[in-house]
Parts: sequence; structure tokens; C-alpha cells
Amino acid sequence: MRYIRFVWLNLLLVVSAIIISGCSLQKPAKSTTKIQAVATTNFYGELEQAVLKDHGQVYSIIDSANVDPHEYDLTIKPTQKIKDSDLVLSNGVGYDTWVTKVTSKRHITVGEDIAHISPGANEHLWYRPDLMKKVTLKLAAEFSQIQPQHRAAFYANAKAYNQQLSQLTDLLATIKRHNQGGKVAVSEPVFDYALATMGYKVINQHFAQAIEEGTDPSYDDIAQLQADIRHHRIAFFVENTQSDAPVINQLVKLCHQYHVPVVQVTETVPAGKNYLSWMKDEFMQVRNIQKGID
Ligand SMILES: [Zn+2]
Repeated sequence: MRYIRFVWLNLLLVVSAIIISGCSLQKPAKSTTKIQAVATTNFYGELEQAVLKDHGQVYSIIDSANVDPHEYDLTIKPTQKIKDSDLVLSNGVGYDTWVTKVTSKRHITVGEDIAHISPGANEHLWYRPDLMKKVTLKLAAEFSQIQPQHRAAFYANAKAYNQQLSQLTDLLATIKRHNQGGKVAVSEPVFDYALATMGYKVINQHFAQAIEEGTDPSYDDIAQLQADIRHHRIAFFVENTQSDAPVINQLVKLCHQYHVPVVQVTETVPAGKNYLSWMKDEFMQVRNIQKGID
């Protein structure tokens, strides 16, 4: 009797082990699904990818330096990507409004939701690396709501990327320390946030606004700027090389003629660069002018 009872007990253990392992086999599936993230531009897509790493896939709607985000409109593929996504990250404040034409599950804007500014403010928010650090932390929080099981990884990834961004915020601080209330002129307000952080004052805002809006700057504004260049009233001139208005080309020529340094910037990431190297190369142009090696 004893022996038989032992066999029954063993059999019971084996059966229950099968049932338990059978149940646990059905569990995983959900945790292996990758988060689908969309960004309006590739520099925001880069931030999403840095936070997600292998837990997600990123689709950047504008991924080429030849497309102007100001004048873009959605086509079929990005429309479907937005519909299928778990989260959309856009600049906001009127910059990439076209993304709101399609309803998404979750949409955060850098301007309204993170910087807490309204349309009408300068749109070129990615020229604030300090703000980009807040964007990665916000993304970590959002992705953690979608996949709570990866919360620790998202925050660790955001922190690691923010450490790299510190190279940019440190460089801006160094430039500010070596700037003695310098005045500058710009072709467009693209670089203005970086200039403000560096402590430079833009003296031709009215002119720059006209170029940004695609209208002709006034005769007086041009004459004033030409005089400022000839009399070295500016530390340097900032040229957005992605727009080629003839008036800008003439002013750049005048700068060369009068040995006024020109800082070359772009609205979107140039081919072959990422957000970090792009920003660093532009900020270094200013640092080199300060050092007298332009
Ligand atoms: Zn712009």
C-alpha cells in the first residue's frame, strides 16, 4: 500500500508540473512587441530611438535635408505610420501642424507639452539642447506607460543620451563665458535659441523675420545690415545655408570682403551627421571665432 501511494504522489507531481509549465508558456507574447514611434523630423526620431533602443521602432517623416518642414504635407506612407503608431513626437507651436491631420493614439509636442510655449514663439526648439534633455525624459515617461515592464531601461537610456547632450550644454556655457556682450546678425531666426544661450544679441530681427517668411526684406533693413558689416558692428553673421535668397548671398560676400566671420547653420540635419555632431559642429564655429581661428 505504501508503494502504491508513493507512485500516485509522483504521478500527481508530474501532472501538476505539466499544468504549471503549460500555463506559463502562454504568458510572454505581449512583452516582445516593439513600440512603434513616429517623429515629424529625423532629429526628434533620433531622440525616440535613443530612449527606446531595441524596445521600439522609429519612423521619421522628414528624413532628408532636401525637404523643408515648413512647407511639407503628409503623403500616404507617413499617414499610415501615424495611424499604426503608439506615439507621435512633433515640434508643435505651428511648425509641423500637418502631423495633426491624422489622429494618433498618443501625441506629444516639444513646444506646448514640454517647453510650455505657444504658437508665435520661435519654432526652432531643437537649438535648445537643454530642452532636448527634457524631451528624452518625457519620452521615457510616455514609453513607460505603454510598456511598464521596460520602464527602467527607458529611463537608463534617456539618462545615457542626456549625458551625451551635456557635451552640447557644456560647450554653450563655455561660449557664453567667453562672450563679452557680442552683437550678431542672422539670415533667419533658425539659430536664435543657441545664440541667446551663448549670450549674443541679434540686431537684425526684422530683416531675419522677412527672410523666414519668404518675403523681401525692406531697403532700409538691408542698408542697415550692410553698414553693420562694413563697420564691424557684429561679431559674426549667421547664414542658413539651406535657403539661398540672393540678398543673403550678397551679404555673405560682403562679410568675406570685410573679414566678418560667417557661421553656417542649417534648419535640418545635414547628410552624414546626427543631432549631436550637427549641433557640435555649428557651436564650434562660434567657439573658433572667439578663439580667433575662423
Ligand atoms: Zn525655420
